[in-house]
Amino acid sequence: MGKQQTRVLVTGAGGFIGHHLTTYLKDLGYWVRGVDLKYPEYGVTAADEFEILDLRRWEPTLAATRGVDEVYNLAANMGGIGFIEHNKAVIMHDNVLINIHMLEAARQNGVGRYLYTSSACIYPGYLQRSAEVTPLKEEDAYPADPEDGYGWEKLYSERQCRHYCEDFGLETRVVRFHNIFGPLGTYDGGREKSPAAICRKVALARDGDEIEVWGDGEQTRSYCYIDDCVEGIFRLMRSGHREPLNLGQDRLISINELVDMTAAIAGKRIGKRYNLSAPQGVRGRNSDNARLRQVLGWEPTVSLEEGLTRTYTWIAEQLAQRAPAPVEATFAADRSRATV
Ligand code: NAD
Repeated sequence: MGKQQTRVLVTGAGGFIGHHLTTYLKDLGYWVRGVDLKYPEYGVTAADEFEILDLRRWEPTLAATRGVDEVYNLAANMGGIGFIEHNKAVIMHDNVLINIHMLEAARQNGVGRYLYTSSACIYPGYLQRSAEVTPLKEEDAYPADPEDGYGWEKLYSERQCRHYCEDFGLETRVVRFHNIFGPLGTYDGGREKSPAAICRKVALARDGDEIEVWGDGEQTRSYCYIDDCVEGIFRLMRSGHREPLNLGQDRLISINELVDMTAAIAGKRIGKRYNLSAPQGVRGRNSDNARLRQVLGWEPTVSLEEGLTRTYTWIAEQLAQRAPAPVEATFAADRSRATV
């Protein structure tokens, strides 16, 4: 019943996860206000209301949180490893301001629940030096040694949520994503993450070509498909769990294997050219999902093969639509016009 009346705010609703989450919540019957610096790039928002606001500033966060029961705070200045390693000051500046203002505005406007999107980047570097990494448990976050910049900001903002809960009774939820991927996400321009970048490179390559791989490709990660991500976020918001919770898959795969899987999906033979001076992040990272299963009675289900097939197909279609007509096709079109 209440669902029909529940009004939610999704910040970052013009971005990858926020756009999908907005659609998911609308399908469940929620009233949704989306807020972002930009409209979604791929597809029209499903939100009832969409406002362009800069959430680094105080007044816009007050406007964004007016009259809503719940807040999903996804807005952040972020990108893949290349972007976060080269923009530490601006990332910390923007994202701390967004969350510090959003929490206080939510409190002043009487918001009931507030979900903050943290990251696996908060986990200590000293636990991620081997490709055969032990999966990371939530309590491994301390003693802290997070990714320098983005990771510190996420860890600090997690603490802010905890203190707003303890001191003011705001029901906060904190999710730590492990590499979310899928269609309708950034795939070029410098902010894209590894699955999207690899899909783009493979889609643009011809059969037998080489693509550039950052590092030696032996670094490992786990990847979680977007449909599982939005379901997990929603389940966490509904739960009574106030501590940070991992949300990801726990299947470890190297970047080399990810490239091979993508090439197989594309039906191309793809060689690898290693760029050892490119940023590569930690050596290995995986999610321990024991608490996720225990708290939510659920875990991600979409296989990497399935998710990657859907993502590759979408990125390849985007690139094909953008590409100029091949030269032969242009000549053929000109000749056909000349004979009419
Ligand atoms: P995204 O970049 O696609 O979306 C973030 C959105 O926030 C963008 O549309 C951006 O315009 C908006 N934004 C940035 N600054 C803003 C501002 N000042 N005011 C209003 N809006 C602003 O990223 P995403 O992948 O959808 O990530 C969503 C959240 O999840 C972020 O907090 C991110 O740090 C976190 N996260 C994502 C991943 C992942 O794998 N995608 C992993 C860990 C954490």
